Amino acid sequence: MPGYPMLFLMICLLIVVIAIPNKVCGDPRPVFKPNADEGDIESLLRVLEKVLALDDSELVALVPEQSGFRFVDCPNCDGGAEENQLTWTIDRPDEVYCQFCEMRFPNERFPENGTMEVRNELDEVQKYPYWEAPFPPPMELTLALAPLAPDKKYRHYFRAKGWFTAREYLSNAAQQLAELYYLTGDENYARRSALIIDRFAQVYPGYCARYDHPFRAKVVFSGEQTFPYPVSPYLAAKWAYWAYGDIPYNMVFAYDLIHESGVVSEAAKDRIENDLFHASVRFVRSYPITLSNMDPTILRGLISVGRVLNEPGYLHEAVDWISDLIHKQLFVDGMWREGAVSYHNQTINGLEGVMQLLDGYSDPEGYVHPESRERLDDLDLADAFPLFVKAKKIQDLLKYPNGRTVALHDTWAWQERDPLEASHSLLFPGVGHAVLGRGEGEHQLQAHLHFSGAYGHAHADLLSITLFAHGQERLSDIGYTWTHHRQWASSTLSHCTVMVNGEEQTRGHLRDPSDGNLTLYVAEDEDFQVVEADGIRAYPEMVEEYRRMLIAVGISEEDAYLVDVFRVKGGQRHEYILVGDANHDGTAETSLERTGFDSLLPSGVKVVFPSGETVPGHAEGHNFHYGYVKDMTSSPAPGEWQVDLTSEGEPNAEVRVHGRSHLDGDLIFGQSPSVRRAEESEGRLEDYKMATLIHRREGEDLNSTFVSVLEPFAGEPIIHSVERLSGKPGDVILKITRGDGVDYIACTSEHGILEVEDLTLHGRMGFVRERAKQVAGLTLIGGTLLRKGDHQVSGEGVISGKITGVLRKGRGDGIDGLVVDVPVPEGKVVQGTTIIVKDGAGFSIGLRLDEISERNGQTVLLLQDDPGFEMTADGKSRHIYFPGREWEGTNWFEIVNVVKREFQ
Ligand SMILES: [Zn+2]
Ligand SMILES: [Zn+2]
Repeated sequence: MPGYPMLFLMICLLIVVIAIPNKVCGDPRPVFKPNADEGDIESLLRVLEKVLALDDSELVALVPEQSGFRFVDCPNCDGGAEENQLTWTIDRPDEVYCQFCEMRFPNERFPENGTMEVRNELDEVQKYPYWEAPFPPPMELTLALAPLAPDKKYRHYFRAKGWFTAREYLSNAAQQLAELYYLTGDENYARRSALIIDRFAQVYPGYCARYDHPFRAKVVFSGEQTFPYPVSPYLAAKWAYWAYGDIPYNMVFAYDLIHESGVVSEAAKDRIENDLFHASVRFVRSYPITLSNMDPTILRGLISVGRVLNEPGYLHEAVDWISDLIHKQLFVDGMWREGAVSYHNQTINGLEGVMQLLDGYSDPEGYVHPESRERLDDLDLADAFPLFVKAKKIQDLLKYPNGRTVALHDTWAWQERDPLEASHSLLFPGVGHAVLGRGEGEHQLQAHLHFSGAYGHAHADLLSITLFAHGQERLSDIGYTWTHHRQWASSTLSHCTVMVNGEEQTRGHLRDPSDGNLTLYVAEDEDFQVVEADGIRAYPEMVEEYRRMLIAVGISEEDAYLVDVFRVKGGQRHEYILVGDANHDGTAETSLERTGFDSLLPSGVKVVFPSGETVPGHAEGHNFHYGYVKDMTSSPAPGEWQVDLTSEGEPNAEVRVHGRSHLDGDLIFGQSPSVRRAEESEGRLEDYKMATLIHRREGEDLNSTFVSVLEPFAGEPIIHSVERLSGKPGDVILKITRGDGVDYIACTSEHGILEVEDLTLHGRMGFVRERAKQVAGLTLIGGTLLRKGDHQVSGEGVISGKITGVLRKGRGDGIDGLVVDVPVPEGKVVQGTTIIVKDGAGFSIGLRLDEISERNGQTVLLLQDDPGFEMTADGKSRHIYFPGREWEGTNWFEIVNVVKREFQ
């Protein structure tokens, strides 16, 4: 665990201890005041109406004596997803019904035709009635579990689904009753709340741990089976469907409110505290800590029990656990390891919530933790972790102008926050994501380039782009779904990237990462922003080059266009993919003559699509995702082409794709599932499509530079013509003619020399803007010379060298900086320039430069933020945060100089 933040925390705590030496310890009751006032009494009474109408024995009888199941499929319809169709109500407690087809279960067609029996820890027989389907479950159990459920039939435990839902309903009711007591002082509510909690305390010791996973046979473990269960951590649970939710904190909060009411007997208190609350903590804590996105839920339970039952040990453990989650699982930019914004938000908001539960906590007088010898006093974690403060901002950064979350990896695209007033460029160097952004209000544009690795909930989406312009997401990333289209939504083919050899990109992991490498990021000038990343780890040993550059060029306050250069070398099939608006119907329009096109798969290949979220699909050894693209036509690809990706979304606008790859192959036009509008209902997935454009090339050892200008426009197009001027192989030189002028954009494939017509570039990139046939501006990136006719600029080119040391405020160095072995000319490098650090392990990160300085005769590049890694004297380096890699070898830096000159 990194030393600094805990040390910092301890110092703060020490100061508090000294400042309030006579603090009265032990929490006053209730510890947690409910977030409700007298205005809520009426609605609570309404919600509890049916519970209050029951007499005590009827109420107690509703508390299930067995653990239930969450995932029980409706056998009658294909509504909903992930075996979450059925639900239960207190009116008809012996049945469940489908929220989609409304059928009630069990019934004559789906009767209970068997009972599974299992002996629990108390040596009682528990009975689980089921309807057994005449077909097997969609997925088989893992080898370790298979012997425990030898019957291959698909058993639907309707009644256990009812128990599961009743358990949730009644434990919530216990909390609501306690809140009513708190608000009214009426002891009857406290008594009813205690009745429920005590009944749960009586039955909980008999609950069996069970494995409850969608699409698989259920396993209920007998009482003889204890830790370690033959499952992945947390997948055997007694209370929730997985053990992350196994501490029933809603009843802990309830107990906190009624504890002093006088209606809870000592015997009941003993049962509730020991047989239920402590027992559930013991159960969950038997698992190793995995620092997952669900850990805040465990912490909520642990902290509530710790405070309400006065267990300081639980709270010390919680504080260390929170610190570990932050420092071991967040990237240096504050992003949660999985890179999916939804999981980031879930984890960060969850952690914020548990920090609030610890607010103001002090250990009992005289207490010191037996191992750490530390005390906690008047705790306040809100600002204790600078990285967490950074993490909290991300949900308001990774959103589109309309407030919708950027649907990276497994992110719910419907999640929404306040709309943005203006868009700006952003770099998330840790996780690997860049935004080129500009404009205000309705004229905002965001182009995203994604180059993250895969550390859970990841899509095969390296070097994919999305585009938001004119009020809509016009090139999309579908995001998350729990339907049987989840694998499609995470496949390479559903993303705007390049697929090689018809294969999914490799999704890496900690030991073998698939991270992309940032190679260039220049975004200081709103009218010319560039990002480039290398994604060669997507296709290891298949490609020699896999690199994408995305350029956003502003024309006016309203309009901008993009230049997309994707270089791929190696492999026998390259497919450059663009998908349109996933929120609305749309088409790919072109004047090219097209013919019908049957399938992206070889003819005759049969596709078996996944029948559930995690159920495998296949296509005779081919990539089955090809089967999702339908209604296809194709045309041989001319050297230059134009396709409009339209959308019925308002405001009316489209993206014109000016293809200038000068490559052979076929253009394939089709429609593929857009998923989002099906609103998580399996039966509606086929109703919603998005326009899909694929430029497919086939041949031996292919070398493709896909070059497109992407022009979003509303009403009249903004570009008159796009000419690709010929240079050396690999050079990209575009002449873009617009209403009031001409732009030249030149990129050399290596840092070379390029000469065409009266344009000369010595360096990496040049941008020439002409108005009324006069050069109005020149921008030179990583070069020494850019000349157009009589106008020219010169620059420092690329400054690079070795990093000999790293300075971190977090380590007490006073500054964040890189000590380097070459002089960097002051005044020649712009503040805010992004330094690319190429580490000794072959990964890169972009760090923003503040200024050049000197220390002990050495050049120091002062940074605007924490570099996130350290170097030791013996030549080793290590990440401070996630992914926590350690490496040997030289760390290099590169500053790509940018020079801009405007002419009158
Ligand atoms: Zn149904
Ligand atoms: Zn995606």
